[in-house]
Amino acid sequence: MRKKIVAGNWKMNTLPAEGETLARGINEFMAEYNAGSDKKIILGVPFTHIDRVIHSVDSEKIAVSAQNCSQYDSGAYTGEVSASMIKSLGAEYVIVGHSERRQYFGDTDEIIGHKLAQAYKNNLIPIFCCGESLGERMEGKYFDVVKSQIINSLIRVEKSNIVKTVIAYEPVWAIGTGQTATPAQAQGMHAFIRRTLADLYGNAIAGEISILYGGSVNAANSAELFSADDIDGGLVGGASLKAEDFKTIIKSL
Ligand code: PEP
Repeated sequence: MRKKIVAGNWKMNTLPAEGETLARGINEFMAEYNAGSDKKIILGVPFTHIDRVIHSVDSEKIAVSAQNCSQYDSGAYTGEVSASMIKSLGAEYVIVGHSERRQYFGDTDEIIGHKLAQAYKNNLIPIFCCGESLGERMEGKYFDVVKSQIINSLIRVEKSNIVKTVIAYEPVWAIGTGQTATPAQAQGMHAFIRRTLADLYGNAIAGEISILYGGSVNAANSAELFSADDIDGGLVGGASLKAEDFKTIIKSL
């Protein structure tokens, strides 16, 4: 059964002690809140916070994600962090292909494909991000762009791995802008992504994959977005740094 997921993406925010306080607050809330076994709460934290946050939360209720990993196994890649290092700390997920990585750090579909392979090899579940820019939406190319991101990055992924993968549709024009896709726009794209996955891997597998929406999700809009048929939760940036808002978003799942 496909899972409903709320994943926070803290990006490059908070010092480790602040991150721990935030994580402990969410953990206290989750101790009381009966989310149900079909729901998963994930905190996407900076590398420097992974160990500390893992030791601050109940792993039965909250999973921890890195926000990126190297495309390489190990070696002379100064400043890089490998998927095996992330796994060794106890993280379960890794965000791959976030638009900020694509935009500022040169992550291409091919590099993202290698990062996905590293994630699978090290038993990390990737949260694979895709989404079009404002220009691409205005030009009406959004379905083509997202389809090519999916095909070009997931091309080498086997059925046994794709079924574990979480997809996050994140229109670039909605990230950190306060401008959210309407539930109809988001649902339209999510249904399209599921059809694309069905064409590649078959209906049964496509039906198992959680597809999250990301882009200015907040406490006021999450319930409506998450109620759409193909929206299985959210990847939440700014609002995941505000404990009360994040709790409200979890409750709306
Ligand atoms: C994100 O960083 O993945 C994101 C969706 O950010 P925000 O919620 O702030 O738009």
